[in-house]
Amino acid sequence: MASPVAIAAQAGKLLREQALRPRLLAVRSQAGHLTSRRWLNLQEYQSKKLMSEHGVRVQRFFVASTANEALEAAKRLNAKEIVLKAQILAGGRGKGVFNSGLKGGVHLTKDPNVVEQLAKQMIGYNLTTKQTPKEGVKVNKVMVAEALDISRETYLAILMDRSHNGPVVVGSPQGGVDIEEVAASSPELIFKEQIDIFEGIKDSQAQRMAENLGFLGPLKNQAADQIKKLYHLFLKIDATQVEVNPFGETPEGQVVCFDAKINFDDNAEFRQKDIFAMDDKSENEPIENEAARYDLKYIGLDGNIACFVNGAGLAMATCDIIFLNGGKPANFLDLGGGVKESQVYQAFKLLTSDPKVEAILVNIFGGIVNCAIIANGITKACRELELKVPLVVRLEGTNVQEAQKILKNSGLPITSAVDLEDAAKKAVASVAKK
Ligand code: GDP
Ligand code: MN
Repeated sequence: MASPVAIAAQAGKLLREQALRPRLLAVRSQAGHLTSRRWLNLQEYQSKKLMSEHGVRVQRFFVASTANEALEAAKRLNAKEIVLKAQILAGGRGKGVFNSGLKGGVHLTKDPNVVEQLAKQMIGYNLTTKQTPKEGVKVNKVMVAEALDISRETYLAILMDRSHNGPVVVGSPQGGVDIEEVAASSPELIFKEQIDIFEGIKDSQAQRMAENLGFLGPLKNQAADQIKKLYHLFLKIDATQVEVNPFGETPEGQVVCFDAKINFDDNAEFRQKDIFAMDDKSENEPIENEAARYDLKYIGLDGNIACFVNGAGLAMATCDIIFLNGGKPANFLDLGGGVKESQVYQAFKLLTSDPKVEAILVNIFGGIVNCAIIANGITKACRELELKVPLVVRLEGTNVQEAQKILKNSGLPITSAVDLEDAAKKAVASVAKK
């Protein structure tokens, strides 16, 4: 069984994974755990909309894309105090810094005009937090919400935990802050309830968690009720994680979800169409979106050898073997299953548009994929794009002989490789020569 610390660490880790996805993939690839998984990302305001639709208590809010809209929203809220929050997928916004000079991605004010002034310094600027890349993430939207006084901040998350083969509720009375720090310095303040997915969350479990979080008197029932509602939401929307930090209480005696981060199981896309339609791709690299248009998966890495592969497993193997031979992958582009010649062309176009790329390694294992189609796509792309970097091709499987013939008879400077090792060696050597 995983310790509470491990679970809390995992909760935090999942969160960071979302924020640092491209970088993490780069690091992971070096450790040999590469995945080509795409994540669905929702902004806080989208997550809170889902929560409020399921009876979870969040503050009244509007979303604004311009400073003027923020001003109008602040007036419409007609609240005693307003909280203005930059919408990016990373956490730690409160302590973040904008490249406009503004400090803090979360601001409280009573004056709608100040909301406007602040929004001006947020929208269109990059916000850097502990969880973003150094250059930060551009803010396109802000959330304008009714601010509430907070008398206590706790932490609550529900996550699918592999080591328990099911959902676990993790909580700490010490919320608002970085939960991993709490897990490291005071692991006794991390509590968990393992849920039997068939039985659902029991009243006793919700009550015990509410108590462990320090909710007293009538607040205890209210917190337990919110926890149950969050659990039902978690199940209904096929989430892998719902994290609320702070899960707070107000001096007026209300339990409120002040922040929200939801991760989803991509395998459930077919039955969660409405949610997946909200996917915010604005923080993807443009090249990722371009690849998605052609049903290709692109992951950018730090090296100089582009990898053109089919399947995540082969991508992982290809990256590993490049590393083993002293090279570094620049990216990988996963062609997936049913391939068309035009996709191969688009793939090459994307790979060569990256200035980091000094060589291309094609590693395709033709099972469903017909190697001859790949070979035709490659020769066409080479001619039309006037390929300037060395190209090493390893094809194997269905119709490979014909594919080899097509490549050989093309008269193009394509280096053939007999196997993966050979391909990696040749690709690394072609870059080293330069
Ligand atoms: P994060 O920094 O990205 O995690 O953003 P949060 O939504 O968690 O906000 C950061 C901090 O701002 C919270 O931990 C709260 O202390 C504070 N905060 C957010 N909303 C409110 C609010 O409505 N009222 C008050 N008093 N504080 C708030
Ligand atoms: Mn937070």
